[in-house]
Amino acid sequence: MNMLTIAIDGFSSTGKSTIAKLLAKELSYVYVDSGAMYRAVTLHAMRQGLISSNRFDREGLINSLSELEIRFEYNKELQKGDVYLNGENVEGLIRNLEVSQLVSLVAAVPEVRRKLVEQQKMLGDQGGVVMDGRDIGTVVFPDADFKFFMTASPEVRAERRFKELQDRGDSISYDEVYENVINRDELDSTRKDSPLIKAEDAVEFDNSDISIKDQLRAMLDIISSKLTE
Ligand code: C5P
Repeated sequence: MNMLTIAIDGFSSTGKSTIAKLLAKELSYVYVDSGAMYRAVTLHAMRQGLISSNRFDREGLINSLSELEIRFEYNKELQKGDVYLNGENVEGLIRNLEVSQLVSLVAAVPEVRRKLVEQQKMLGDQGGVVMDGRDIGTVVFPDADFKFFMTASPEVRAERRFKELQDRGDSISYDEVYENVINRDELDSTRKDSPLIKAEDAVEFDNSDISIKDQLRAMLDIISSKLTE
């Protein structure tokens, strides 16, 4: 069977990565978390003093992009790639609220997108990949074999993310998480370069009220019914 390319896009905290990981496992494909790459660039910008809550040196960031190497290395235990920033595993440093509050500003910079999209295209050029993000079905793989677009109510999404961060031991309030989810959606959907929009040929899933298991089954059904057409 051909090695397919599967694109999963959608709003923040819609469970894209959970479902993408499960789908990749089921199909024995590679899972690529494109958001982790934007988060790693954001961490780099923070460390270099190029971005904070009240300043953003876009030119400085653009100039530093040539020194930036981002790659994934397979983590056997978690059965997914960990993201590395200039050789350092930064997986545990990129999911906190500080990075989440700045990442959409970094992701709106066309030069950042150009660099990461080029790399993402290469990661998927052999097929056999499930990639999740915001522009995978529209920009990275416009010819993907399958495109899914995830939504869920903002309250459900904030609640999921809040629990996730609490489980990690982050001390954070639900309201802060809710605000971040809304802000990120707004910035991601309204930026000029590759805004978050549903590809015309994507299948939309509102997963506010369905379990991950049911959603996975529905997606696998869509994939197998199309393959046997
Ligand atoms: O998927 P995740 O929530 O980790 O993504 C973090 C941020 O990275 C998004 O809010 C968005 O600003 C950016 N992003 C993007 N394009 C992608 C993936 C993520 O702009 N393909």
